[in-house]
Amino acid sequence: MHNTGCFTMVAVLVLILLLGFAAGCSAPEALPTGVCAGALGTKVEKVMQKDPVILRSDWDPGTPREPAPEIATVTDDWLILVNKTHPLSKEYAPSDMVRIQYCVGDHAESMRYMRPEAAEHFHQMAEAAVQIGYEIGIRTAYRSYAQQYNIFYSYVARDGEEAANKYSARPGQSEHQTGLSADVTSPSVNYEMTTDYGQAPEGIWLAENAHRFGFIIRYPLGKEAITGYQYEPWHVRYVGAEAAAEIYERGITLEEYLGEVE
Ligand SMILES: [Zn+2]
Repeated sequence: MHNTGCFTMVAVLVLILLLGFAAGCSAPEALPTGVCAGALGTKVEKVMQKDPVILRSDWDPGTPREPAPEIATVTDDWLILVNKTHPLSKEYAPSDMVRIQYCVGDHAESMRYMRPEAAEHFHQMAEAAVQIGYEIGIRTAYRSYAQQYNIFYSYVARDGEEAANKYSARPGQSEHQTGLSADVTSPSVNYEMTTDYGQAPEGIWLAENAHRFGFIIRYPLGKEAITGYQYEPWHVRYVGAEAAAEIYERGITLEEYLGEVE
């Protein structure tokens, strides 16, 4: 009994020491270029060496609605609606973006940016999550029109256009181009983007708290026919605190909030 007690104490001390080192190993402010830290201070840059794993259910988006004219001018209206019927133009590109501090995976450096107001609130959200022991990092945030073009047509080459259209945005139809959206993930789903994130502790916390920081879960479960996208518990969109609170409390989508549902 005595020996076991001693061993346990030593093991606990070693664990405390290890955690101490891990917590102090990197300050987000002092990141060298190209290195991305998790919110808990752990280096997660090399976690995802393979292709991104995106696990989605099959869902038929039905007949597309009549498209609205392209949005060409960058705006500070955080409620800008971008979807399959409200596309952005090829030229739409915010010029005021800043780098996200808390990211995971090994995506292109150019996809680690958001507009300043969204980035600042994302950092606050990630830091609030850390307070209760959850790490929420960004896989990708900003995506240019050209990047969307490459992504969409690589899916078309792999799965055909009809299939790709169900789970991927055509160029200009992704709100990632606004610099207000991000795909996030956490350790409990192995830094993947999967619908299981909706049941993961961090994903549940995100769904219940994102509105406090001006974010919404943009593609909720059961709203596929309205948003035009499958359930994506990992995709957050900055809309500002007031709209986010109302969207959260009423359990609606951005389309419904803006009265854009037929
Ligand atoms: Zn996304």
